[in-house]
Amino acid sequence: MPSSVETLQKELAACRLCQHSFSHEPRPMIWGHASAPVMLIGQAPSRRVHETGKPFNDMSGRRLRNWLALNEEQFWNKDFLYISAMGHCFPGKALKGGGDNKPPKVCSETWMPRLLESFQPQLYLLVGSYAAQYFFPKKKLSELVFEELSIRHKPAFVLPHPSPLNQKWFKDYPEFEQARIYDIRAVLQQWQPLQ
Ligand code: SF4
Repeated sequence: MPSSVETLQKELAACRLCQHSFSHEPRPMIWGHASAPVMLIGQAPSRRVHETGKPFNDMSGRRLRNWLALNEEQFWNKDFLYISAMGHCFPGKALKGGGDNKPPKVCSETWMPRLLESFQPQLYLLVGSYAAQYFFPKKKLSELVFEELSIRHKPAFVLPHPSPLNQKWFKDYPEFEQARIYDIRAVLQQWQPLQ
């Protein structure tokens, strides 16, 4: 008998709600096991992630792994991190600005409540402003990054998006990389499997 998480993941993998708004076939990114103690919620897969089926398998992921002090094996350990996103499929390239389109709102509206009901992580990591706004809609990312937060009575941290396009934010808030990230690492390490 499949667990509710397995059923949810199968339904999500088959989702084609955005078929008509994308110029490519949707490929929902699903990564992690129900038992993972940490739930990381990002923005949406990049084209490279779309092509490889591996979350954060790009420049953003390299910076994120450095921030979190995780090597590739640790980061992609499905029993450690459950990696979700506000948009589960690559949303296409934006016409302006060099980035990608926004994650389609229908994705978080459809799937996030069910994901949150199905998983009981011990720690939440929200990466980027779309995830931050979903959980904390009245606050700015630059405030949330430095606050002690909780989701469903578990600790939560907000991180800026690690995209190379976000250089200005990194320069404007050097205290994130100089100090705050060490707080996040310390909590994250409590849930890391022993090597
Ligand atoms: S982005 Fe989300 S809602 Fe849209 S097709 Fe992919 S999984 Fe479905």
